[in-house]
Amino acid sequence: MIDLHTHTTCSDGTDSPFALVKKALATGVTTLAITDHDSTAGWSEAITALQPQIELVLGAEISCLTSDGISVHMLGLLFDGENAAIQQILADSRDTRIPRMRKMVELLRADGIDISLADVQAQTPAGATVGRPHLADALVRKGVVASRDEAFLNLLNNESKYYVTHAAPTPVEAIRAIHAAGGVAVIAHPFASRRGQIITSETFADLVAAGLNGIEVDHRDQNAEERKTLREIAQELNLVITGSSDYHGTGKLNAMAENTTLAAQWEALEAQADARRVVRV
Ligand code: AMP
Ligand code: ZN
Ligand code: FE
Ligand code: FE
Repeated sequence: MIDLHTHTTCSDGTDSPFALVKKALATGVTTLAITDHDSTAGWSEAITALQPQIELVLGAEISCLTSDGISVHMLGLLFDGENAAIQQILADSRDTRIPRMRKMVELLRADGIDISLADVQAQTPAGATVGRPHLADALVRKGVVASRDEAFLNLLNNESKYYVTHAAPTPVEAIRAIHAAGGVAVIAHPFASRRGQIITSETFADLVAAGLNGIEVDHRDQNAEERKTLREIAQELNLVITGSSDYHGTGKLNAMAENTTLAAQWEALEAQADARRVVRV
């Protein structure tokens, strides 16, 4: 079983990197990617949990914004973590998430919702990329909502008046940076319409021109029709097709390996990195 998209306490997941790998082992995953939002902080700990039955793909999910302001998530896999340019992009994104969070808190407060930046920080593990799920946890703690899901539904989704974006590279910039660092780029859940505005089919041509390697087709936020369209786009543009869980521990309903990638697709993807960087013990 191949699962190429998961999160840990280094962003908004609830399992530590060590626990993530143990969970994957218990689930029978044989190839696991660790893809925290805008961070590679979990890589070294995840490696310490490896067993011979599992191989680890080091990655990150880069938050991007198109020039039209549409949110796009780009999975960078198998890139060189020592590459300074990509680490700078990730660091810039993490930095701007703090003033962004302050703004979201201010908007909520202005509407009489009792929440502070300190409340959000109290829900953010040390060193983690701060995101809306931590704000959601703070709102749960304060009794404003009952769950992360309800927080997103009512207050924190991309269409909400409390939503604020943070500075981010464009998807094309992210693809270029991933490639310059020797890795491969897979666009995450591109048609996940329930998250807000999505990119058009035409945009794929630009991404392919920049070197996009794959499309995440099988993901719980994409329905059968959206997956069918994406599969057709991937076939037409000769892109790798992936499926993954986007596991977040108890932070989301997504179960480890609920969607997986076919071995032949994974092999085709891995072959496009500039070096063999899969980690095994
Ligand atoms: P941010 O990066 O701060 O914009 O937050 C985006 C994160 O929120 C992504 O990791 C999503 O997985 C997460 N998210 C979106 N909708 C929900 C939801 N309904 N419940 C929990 N997490 C969600
Ligand atoms: Zn997340
Ligand atoms: Fe995502
Ligand atoms: Fe994700």
